[in-house]
Amino acid sequence: KPALTQLGNEMSRLTGVRAIMKDITETLRSGAGREFINLSAGNPLILPEVEQLWRDCTADLLASDEYGAVVCRYGASQGYQPLIDAVVNDFNQRYGLKLTARNVLITPGSQSLYFYAANAFGGYTADGILKKIVLPLSPDYTGYGGVALTQEALFAYKPSLEVDAAAHRFKYRPDFKQLEIAEDTGCVLFSRPCNPTGNVLTDDEVQKIATMAATHDVPVLVDSAYAPPFPALNFTPMTPLFGENILHCMSLSKAGLPGERIGIAIGDEQLIHVLECFQTNMCIHSPRYGQAIAARAINSGALADISAHIIRPFYQSKSQIVEATLDQAMPDVPWFLHRGEGAIFSWLWLQDLPITDWEFYQELKQVGVIVVPGSSFFPGLREDWAHTRQCLRISLTGSDQELETAMKQLAAVVKQVYQRS
Ligand code: PLP
Repeated sequence: KPALTQLGNEMSRLTGVRAIMKDITETLRSGAGREFINLSAGNPLILPEVEQLWRDCTADLLASDEYGAVVCRYGASQGYQPLIDAVVNDFNQRYGLKLTARNVLITPGSQSLYFYAANAFGGYTADGILKKIVLPLSPDYTGYGGVALTQEALFAYKPSLEVDAAAHRFKYRPDFKQLEIAEDTGCVLFSRPCNPTGNVLTDDEVQKIATMAATHDVPVLVDSAYAPPFPALNFTPMTPLFGENILHCMSLSKAGLPGERIGIAIGDEQLIHVLECFQTNMCIHSPRYGQAIAARAINSGALADISAHIIRPFYQSKSQIVEATLDQAMPDVPWFLHRGEGAIFSWLWLQDLPITDWEFYQELKQVGVIVVPGSSFFPGLREDWAHTRQCLRISLTGSDQELETAMKQLAAVVKQVYQRS
């Protein structure tokens, strides 16, 4: 075994959801003939219309003179110019902006974008001051747990809960009484729509956070991996916000291209430049084949169209199946489903759950259903909060029948677990 540095050790640790994914892979492998309904995946399903779009764009690229220059040559760190131009034109038209090419950076997936930002803006300054990476509403994307090279920089805030007890629904809100964005904040980061909860922060909430941050010139990264215009996985109306300190960060992973690794940041020229320099050092630039087909899909309008008319209704209908089945099957215990406002997950809170989320996950496995225990989705939260051990993330990537069966099984396990105590 090689001797590792502190950082080497840190990065090799199986943290959060990676530990659970390992357990799930082993369960599926050792299941020997056993059928599981696996609702753990963050991997989107392959929708035929979406696959066809990427096949068509690929055929077009192959038939064009551009092909050699795309795959046989290095390019600019900032990204492939036709894709940058496509993003600029689309967003200027769609949202009435005045972007230029300097406002856009293409990265190999959006995860890398958060890695650059977390370490360019968060961590120790030359004067030894710790600049925090603030997650204003916990739970949030588990991947944020691994992006900071200076772990102690990551700070998440407990939300306030809006509960509709009669309807068995709830919604997280940023707790503005607690949330601190100050001189020692390096950057702010949150997903909207949110993985794992399906929450969509309102336009006002985002504006309020951005204004607090602007006072201290702090960049606000709005992780828009599920937002409109692509993949448009919002089931509630929302407006993407742009402005001086907002970095609007997108991903094409949920629009059918996770394998090609395409992230897009839109924002202030100086912020974009900092991230671009980080990228040059790290990997020179994003792969260009994916960028070239993405440029085609954006320019033709097909990507936005398929997002709104195929991808969004597909997952919205899955979300409704989970809701309807739980409403019908759940026993009389204090259970609350997060308002399904977007993304590809449902988030269930079992208040006063007599066992931990991890134990519940194990019991559910016994009846052939796999979900992800919620405690992995609170990266950066320092305080002990029982709620973190009372939630489950249910992926909407099952078939309709699988979702219905799995939710009935889940309801039965809930009944047993609460009755036992
Ligand atoms: N942000 C959120 C909220 C996600 O759910 C994901 C992936 O699941 C990512 C970022 C990373 O996406 P990618 O690096 O594929 O763009």
